[in-house]
Amino acid sequence: MRIVLLGPPGSGKGTQAALLKDRLGVPHISTGDLLRAAVKDGTPLGIKAKAAMDAGELVSDELMLGLIEERMGAADIKAGYLLDGYPRNLAQARALDELLNRVGLPVEKALALIVDEEQIVQRIARRAQEEGRSDDTEEVVRNRLAVYREQTAPVTGYYADQRLLVEVDGVGSIDEINQRLTAALD
Ligand code: AMP
Repeated sequence: MRIVLLGPPGSGKGTQAALLKDRLGVPHISTGDLLRAAVKDGTPLGIKAKAAMDAGELVSDELMLGLIEERMGAADIKAGYLLDGYPRNLAQARALDELLNRVGLPVEKALALIVDEEQIVQRIARRAQEEGRSDDTEEVVRNRLAVYREQTAPVTGYYADQRLLVEVDGVGSIDEINQRLTAALD
């Protein structure tokens, strides 16, 4: 299956994607993970992306398109994919469509996890303690949520217009949410 996973930061996308990819047998492609690896390795991309990431802003569409084009060019996506963290705005959604249509592997379903902001602030505070991510401070989290509201939320409408969107309640235990997502894929 070819899936895009949508939802605000801290909505549990990463956790759920890790569970779903095993069940579906497709690669989990997280642009956040790819960027964090690039920052850690000090690659040219990592050096350019770090300031935006630390501020909770989006990395430029141009840099992201280069990254996603490279990753989606790998042979393993022929089996399908679970995209997590991309697209983050309408320009990225359109660029992704173009890229995937070119290789004949268009998105089949967009799954959106619905979680309210109060829950998210609590979850991210917990993650900050557990993982120590540099972009999980309260100020940066607030900015990431604002960026989500303004730039990323419209992406759900983009997929709704294509009749690919399925919204899933993202509040509950990891297991419950996993079951809802699995049901949404059937
Ligand atoms: P995430 O782990 O998906 O929350 O991503 C962490 C950070 O990486 C985000 O706050 C952005 O700074 C950057 N990032 C990840 N994916 C994208 C994307 N598709 N477009 C722009 N920036 C991104």
